[in-house]
Amino acid sequence: MAKKTSKETNSKDQNTVEAEVTAVPVENNTPKVKLTNGKTDDSKEKSISVEQKLISLFSLQQIDSQIDKIRIIRGELPLEVQDLEDEVAGLETRIDNFIDEIQSLEKSINDKLNSIKDCKLLIKKYEEQQANVRNNREYDSLTKEMEFQNLEIQLCEKKIKEFKAQLDIKKIDVDKAQSNHNEKKNDLDIKKAELDDIVAETEKEETELIEKSHEHQKLIEDRLLIAYKRIRKNASNGLAVVGIERDACGGCYNKIPPQRQLDIKMHKKIIVCEYCGRVLVDNLIAETVKI
Ligand SMILES: [Zn+2]
Repeated sequence: MAKKTSKETNSKDQNTVEAEVTAVPVENNTPKVKLTNGKTDDSKEKSISVEQKLISLFSLQQIDSQIDKIRIIRGELPLEVQDLEDEVAGLETRIDNFIDEIQSLEKSINDKLNSIKDCKLLIKKYEEQQANVRNNREYDSLTKEMEFQNLEIQLCEKKIKEFKAQLDIKKIDVDKAQSNHNEKKNDLDIKKAELDDIVAETEKEETELIEKSHEHQKLIEDRLLIAYKRIRKNASNGLAVVGIERDACGGCYNKIPPQRQLDIKMHKKIIVCEYCGRVLVDNLIAETVKI
């Protein structure tokens, strides 16, 4: 108990747990019992050996750990779909932007075509006026106007050529983005269907395991079950019942003294880790439980 100071913060709670669970009266000392998850016809409290209690607790832990695992896996799945959805949405925005740019270029081309039409109308008007001029000055003035309009037309044509070149590039870009988008969208649809299946499947498995967990909980006396649930809630990995691994607690990895290991092997009382408060079981119990 000397090392206990380092874990002082949790020790109060754990002591309570220990006191509670170790205080369970050992009324049946029969070392070997039929290992049927403690199912007996007699009243629960009196006829169940410590060994059976340990087996039931460890079984319950295995079931609950499987439920935890499913929940962790399922928790990550929507994130994967979300990433793909974000990617597809990003491509859609890019395509929309390209389409806007294309429309704006087409409008610019149209504007310039209309300007050319206006210029040509003016030139036609000036030609008609030139036929009726009274002097050279008027004639020259109209000629200048027509030259100006012709220059304007040339300028518009140059601009149209530039816009058309830009338009060609944009059309290639939009085609590329579109095919990229179609590909990703297809990936997303497949992935989404797959993930939906997995979610449906794990939900079914989870429901079955929860049922199984409830069945096992019925085999454990209330006081022990409450302690189990409390330890599990406080443990970040959800483990309330652990085995001994290399002479250490399978939950917090602190060394278990040899005498304590012997006590655990005896199956005479429920023993918790003095550091983390988890219930400890030896390999014999762990191997007995096959879920
Ligand atoms: Zn421990």
